Amino acid sequence: MTPTEALKHYFGYTEFKAGQKKVIDLLLGHKNTLALLPTGGGKSLCYQIPALLEDGLTLVISPLISLMKDQVDSLQQNGIPAAFINSSQEFETAKAVLAKARRHELKLLYIAPERLENQFFLELLQTLSVSLVAVDEAHCISQWGHDFRPSYLKLPALLAQLPVRPTLVALTATATPQVAKDIKELLLIPAENEVKTSFARDNLTFKLIKGTDFEHYLLSYLKQNPNDSGIIYASTRKRVEQLGIMLNKMGIKAGIYHAGLSELQRRESQEDFLYDRTPVMVATNAFGMGIDKSNVRFVIHAQVPGSLEAYYQEAGRAGRDGLPSEAILFYKDADLQVQRFFIDNSQADEQHREFDYQKLQALTRYANTEECLQRFLVQYFGQDCPDCQKCTNCTDTREKQDITKETQMIMSCIVRMQSRFGKKIVAQVLAGSKAKRILELNFDQLSTYGIMHQKTKEIETLIDFLTASGYLKTSSGQFPTLHVTQTGLEVLRGQAKVYARIEKAERNSEQPVE
Ligand code: ADP
Repeated sequence: MTPTEALKHYFGYTEFKAGQKKVIDLLLGHKNTLALLPTGGGKSLCYQIPALLEDGLTLVISPLISLMKDQVDSLQQNGIPAAFINSSQEFETAKAVLAKARRHELKLLYIAPERLENQFFLELLQTLSVSLVAVDEAHCISQWGHDFRPSYLKLPALLAQLPVRPTLVALTATATPQVAKDIKELLLIPAENEVKTSFARDNLTFKLIKGTDFEHYLLSYLKQNPNDSGIIYASTRKRVEQLGIMLNKMGIKAGIYHAGLSELQRRESQEDFLYDRTPVMVATNAFGMGIDKSNVRFVIHAQVPGSLEAYYQEAGRAGRDGLPSEAILFYKDADLQVQRFFIDNSQADEQHREFDYQKLQALTRYANTEECLQRFLVQYFGQDCPDCQKCTNCTDTREKQDITKETQMIMSCIVRMQSRFGKKIVAQVLAGSKAKRILELNFDQLSTYGIMHQKTKEIETLIDFLTASGYLKTSSGQFPTLHVTQTGLEVLRGQAKVYARIEKAERNSEQPVE
């Protein structure tokens, strides 16, 4: 059977999606491969078809325990002998699955990465004839990935131990160039075996909403789109519950999903959503990994997620069927605090916290850029694409203003404060705040004290924009300090100008007092 025949025979599709055939051909040629395909790009078929066409067992390593069953069920429905082993099973069941694998009665075996830490399992694995190993969500192997799972690091040693070295395929939708490099190095994938399709999602319209009351916005959005199915992400369980109650009170059928609910509640809620019994799902990031619901018309983030990787992955759950859909991020500075809290209280070591802070900063840049949002995201993942012409930035018709003078004021203030302070204090100094801390530090003596006409908040917005545009940069860590970049210096020296759509304030007769 050829790959195309297998596609038709087992899955009922007639054509491959971009990149699929290339990955399959490489795997059939026993080449280790990295597949970078967007969410909904059809990554599973890339290893399922070679699994069916080759002798031996395909081992699929997937961090999504809750979804293994769904994947295996759907394979079985297509007449494909597949099974999974995970911690939710009885020992006897797992043993029976392995016995089946030994009798060559399985083509695909799904396991969680944690299995790789289990010596007993590893020994058993050596008795199976594994011909292909598929590493799903492969960004988890990289320390730079947004969801680092140390168990994945056991993988190279495991592969080396197997009697016959299997072919390997790593798949992910969210790898920055650095993460892709890491995956290739760790899993011994030659650079030329990287299959990458455009990360741009042409059917998605990216929207960034700031300075609006979220609940008000949400209700009017849902009223305008009454029959659409969509996901609303919030950062905390509490906020998810609040929003769920609020929507149901307003007569909008919405389910909720977070890790604090019972297994049964989660399953019910997920199925109600999948089968369109409740069109709206309010959830934390616990929901959605691997969910294959094609008609999600919108994904709204009520609060910022922790990284652009997480954002693109979650937003990417909209429009898997290729029809026009929206990805809306509601941005409020204060919500960054929630993410900072998560970072500070995570189990991660110092270095990983630092990475997490850097990721959060990239997200802040996205929220403050005036560039095309789709393009910004695609560039973050190391590619490029034309401006989408439909995101909130591409369609912003406000005139661009020359803000060179304001930029210079901000920069000279930062320099005078020896680049040792963050956004809030710099803005306060520029606005001439009489806050205790400002006076204690004698910042009211600086020549830049009170030289700007805007209020502190407005200056902060300007600083965010300048950071997003690369004129300023912030140090990472819990208390980021502001610095002028090389590009910024050109503005400071009068060699370049800065334009933005930010409204300019007129000078008030009185300096704002804060
Ligand atoms: P990913 O893991 O990349 O997000 P999936 O493997 O879950 O994506 O596939 C997304 C959807 O696309 C699934 O419903 C799958 O059945 C479908 N699909 C995959 N390949 C094809 C194809 N060649 N033609 C049509 N649909 C496909």
